[in-house]
Amino acid sequence: MTRFFSFLFLLTLNLPSIAQPIYKEYSIQAVNYFQVAAEVKALQLQAYEIARFRLDQALVTLPAGKPLAVVVDVDETVLDNSPYQARQILSGESYPKGWKEWVEEANALAIPGSAEFLNYADKKHVAVFYISNRKLADIPATMKNLKAAGFPQVTDDRILFKSTENGKESRRQKVAEQYEIVLLVGDNLTDFTAFFDGQSTTERNRLTVQMQKEFGARFIMLPNSLYGDWENALYEWNLKADEKEKAELRKKALRLQN
Ligand SMILES: [Mg+2]
Repeated sequence: MTRFFSFLFLLTLNLPSIAQPIYKEYSIQAVNYFQVAAEVKALQLQAYEIARFRLDQALVTLPAGKPLAVVVDVDETVLDNSPYQARQILSGESYPKGWKEWVEEANALAIPGSAEFLNYADKKHVAVFYISNRKLADIPATMKNLKAAGFPQVTDDRILFKSTENGKESRRQKVAEQYEIVLLVGDNLTDFTAFFDGQSTTERNRLTVQMQKEFGARFIMLPNSLYGDWENALYEWNLKADEKEKAELRKKALRLQN
């Protein structure tokens, strides 16, 4: 009998590794793709090469008027936060846990091609605006990070972070009052226009096709497999869904036929 109980005890010792899956294990491949795949680097370099081409075009063709500006998002557009995503998986902590600490480290690397492009814009006397949904309290650490990563025009007036609204439209309009926005660069469709704010997967896809002429023209799109409104839309914007519900919705979204 004693032997039986000690057997049970030994069995339970081994149980946690079986019973507790790694937090966000499903996203390991998304992080791998973002960090390892040279294809992601190629897409990022390609995006910024197109941006440079379009900026050159605008410099030649746009009539003299308002000064020119480019608007960039920050996270996964000019700064690579994938190490934070990797840490979440291994620590089992979910956003926003650890995010503030990551921001304060101010160590994020530049997305390939981004600093080169923005320095090129700077050299051409084009204004650069950083519109991000990082919090106002994150401005000092983010400015430190952007400067360390070699970005130009990192000054208070060029940093438009989130105060109350999630949507970026009012901040874009504020820039547009004084500048001609020639390009918007982002990893989320809401970095370009408010039409995408809070939309469903179907609507996001429909609008993207409808606006296809904007992509590679005024809108420069970067890849982000880590997170984004594509994922929120997949969860039908139920941001409070638990891990089990989310797993079900991810499976439900698998397309089995064309
Ligand atoms: Mg972003």
